[in-house]
Amino acid sequence: MSVAKKYCVIGHPVAHSLSPEVQNAAFEKLGIEAVFEKVDVQPDELGAFMHRFRSVYDGCNVTIPHKEKVIEYLDELSDDARLIGAVNVVVTENGRLIGHNTDRYGAMTALAEGLCGKMNGKNVIVLGAGGAARALVYGCLRAGANITILNRTLANAKTLADAFNQIRKDENIENFHVIKYGSLDDWNVEQCDLLVNTTPVGMEPGIDSAPIDILHGRSEISRTNFTVMDIIYRPLFTKLLRDAQEIGAKIITGDTMFLHQAARAFELWTGQKAPLEIMRKILTKELFV
Ligand code: NAP
Repeated sequence: MSVAKKYCVIGHPVAHSLSPEVQNAAFEKLGIEAVFEKVDVQPDELGAFMHRFRSVYDGCNVTIPHKEKVIEYLDELSDDARLIGAVNVVVTENGRLIGHNTDRYGAMTALAEGLCGKMNGKNVIVLGAGGAARALVYGCLRAGANITILNRTLANAKTLADAFNQIRKDENIENFHVIKYGSLDDWNVEQCDLLVNTTPVGMEPGIDSAPIDILHGRSEISRTNFTVMDIIYRPLFTKLLRDAQEIGAKIITGDTMFLHQAARAFELWTGQKAPLEIMRKILTKELFV
């Protein structure tokens, strides 16, 4: 008798996550006997949880705030996860825990769909310097963008900029421009083509907050070649995106990144092609009810 596989998403908070709905629909569609659940793991519980994990779960998604910290509990990292320094997918293989990063793929696919143009030479500002920001910065760097990281804690923005400036040198990435950094107060629209929020500011229940005030200096930023992406997907239209629409900017919502990182995670766990359309349908249903 085959035993159903067991997967989860861990985070804190995690109630907002739509991973169970999307992954369970994909398992059902392909007739895979598996269940996917969400587990709220507080920062000081991560070690104890990961020690139990190996004997209980076949894999998991990792979300805020564990993407970097989880690495110390894993046996091996994929090349992407090692370079990015953050893990959002864990696969259990013969009792070993392997960390992967599918956020970069998800984010860059969403940007490719939303921008309908090349990233090469674009001036990109990334808000935040956590696990998701790492994937975004690495993806934008490899795509040849000029990047500035703005973060609440300046030291964390500097650490991230230093790490990726070093990676660029080590990997000899072409079209390199030194990654700059600053605090959220340094926000300035001058020469910004794309702004990406990777902080949790604006997530439920704080839906009337934004990490920066883009309405400030509104006349300057009323131009059509300015795009704002928020990787938060609950709510879909965050305050930052609502403000962006008000000044005529193009917007990219967080659901596309979520969909594509989830599809790649499904493929890592099952070895089968993800049923993208059913995953998209469930996501849309959940987000638009
Ligand atoms: P994380 O590793 O904990 O990083 C959070 C970042 O946001 C840090 O730079 C932190 O700054 C900053 N931050 C936190 N609270 C803040 C506040 N009140 N004001 C200003 N800055 C604040 O989290 P993560 O894993 O990167 O996730 C971040 C967000 O992205 C979450 O909302 C998550 O759900 C979303 N996400 C979405 C997708 C998707 O597929 N759409 C994928 C990944 C993540 P400090 O350095 O100062 O602490």
